[in-house]
Amino acid sequence: MRRFLLFLMVSSLILTTCFASNGRVQGQSADKYSVDLQGFVWDHSKITALLVTPTGESWWNPSDLNPTLRAIGQWNEAITTFSSNYSENSYLSSLRIQPTVSNVSQPGFDLYVSWAEFPLNNSTNEIGVSQIFPNSHRGIVKCTTTLATHQSHGNSFNEVDLQNTALHELGHDLGLGHSNYTGDLMYYLYTLGSPGEDVSTLDVYGVASLFSWEKSASTIYPISNWLTVNSAVLPADIPYRGLPVSAENMPPQTFANNQVVQALIFIFEVLMHPEFFALAAVFIVVLVVIVIFPRKKRVKADS
Ligand SMILES: [Zn+2]
Repeated sequence: MRRFLLFLMVSSLILTTCFASNGRVQGQSADKYSVDLQGFVWDHSKITALLVTPTGESWWNPSDLNPTLRAIGQWNEAITTFSSNYSENSYLSSLRIQPTVSNVSQPGFDLYVSWAEFPLNNSTNEIGVSQIFPNSHRGIVKCTTTLATHQSHGNSFNEVDLQNTALHELGHDLGLGHSNYTGDLMYYLYTLGSPGEDVSTLDVYGVASLFSWEKSASTIYPISNWLTVNSAVLPADIPYRGLPVSAENMPPQTFANNQVVQALIFIFEVLMHPEFFALAAVFIVVLVVIVIFPRKKRVKADS
C-alpha cells in the first residue's frame, strides 16, 4: 500500500513538472503579439479631429459624444506613458489627437468622426467604420470614422461599447490594421458587453513604427525606404500589457466591469491555469496521504 502511495506521489510529481513546463512553453509561444499596419502614414504628429455631432436627429443622445472624447484621451495618455516608459520610442511623445466638437462639418481637419443610428453594414454588423484617404505616395491626407449608436434591433449601445468601438476605430485612423491577439483592442471581432478596453503596449508600438520616420529626422518619402514591414511584432524587451487609464478617461461602471464580477473572472482564469491544476494534483495527493495513513495504522492497531 505504501509502495503504491509512493508510486502515486512520484507519478503526480512527474505530472506536475510536465504540466508546469507545458504551461510555460505555451505562454512563450503565445508571446508573439503582432498588429497589422495598413501601410499608410501620417506626415505630422498633431492629428486634428473634428467630431461632427448629428444634433437635431431624434436618435442622437448628446451623451454619446463622451465615449469618443474619452477614447481620444485614452489614446493620448497611452502614447504619453509608452513614449516615456520606452525611451527608444520617445519621439512618439509629440503625437496627439486634438478633438474639436461641432454640429457642422468644416474643412481643414485630419480626421472626421460622425455617427449613424444603426450598424453600417447589416450583414457584418459593423458598429464602427474607418476609411483612410491617402495620396499617391501612401501619405494620409484625410481620414473618416463613422460610429453606430444603436444595435440593428433598436437598443442603444452602452457607453463602454461605444468607447471600445471608438478606441478600435482610432487605432485604424492612426494607421493600424488588426491584431492577432484575441484580447487586444485591435482584434477584428468585438463582443458587446465587454469591459472597458486598454490601449496596449502592442497597439502603441505599432503606431510608433508608423511614425518612426520622425526618429531619424529623415524625410517621410519614399515610405518604402523605412516602412519595410506590413505588421509590427512586439519585441521581447517590451511586455504586452494594457496602458494605464486615468479616472477622467475611464468608462463608467457596467455589470461587466464591476469589481466583484472582475474578481470572479480572475479567480476562474486562475483555476483554468495548468500550473494551478498541477498544484491541485499535489494538494490532492498530500490530502490522500494524510487521510489514508492514520486510518491504515488504526486498522493495524485493532487487529
Ligand atoms: Zn477593425
